[in-house]
Amino acid sequence: MYNVMSAKAEEFISDEKIKECLSYAEENKSNKELIEGILAKARDMKGISHREALVLLDCELPDKNEEIFKLAKEIKDEFYGNRIVMFAPLYLSNYCVNGCEYCPYHAKNKHIRRVKLSQEEIAKEVIALQDMGHKRLAIEAGRTR
Ligand code: SF4
Repeated sequence: MYNVMSAKAEEFISDEKIKECLSYAEENKSNKELIEGILAKARDMKGISHREALVLLDCELPDKNEEIFKLAKEIKDEFYGNRIVMFAPLYLSNYCVNGCEYCPYHAKNKHIRRVKLSQEEIAKEVIALQDMGHKRLAIEAGRTR
């Protein structure tokens, strides 16, 4: 059932797996040997798994955190050089059940019109963004139950 390579959300989003990965990161946040292994793998620039990324994000060893920041900068420089890569946001929907205070789409905001784009509207938006010269899109959507 759980398949990180699947393109179907119901196959790769598993609450149980997410919790298991969070626990794994919590248990290993000071595991120097494991963290060094993940950093060595990251240095090859062929990618690390989401579990490994979680361990690095949770790392509580100051010297390893310095190494993580330094390596992240080196990898960023190697991939992108000295430039800023911009993503154009494409909102598919602004319905949301959450309450993030910085966001105007939070559920308690009763002053905005809620919209969910149709397939045709999404196609039009993508073409318009492409015609403006955008090459990268960040797909955004509020959260529903
Ligand atoms: S749209 Fe995203 S950021 Fe905004 S309230 Fe919902 S979950 Fe939070």
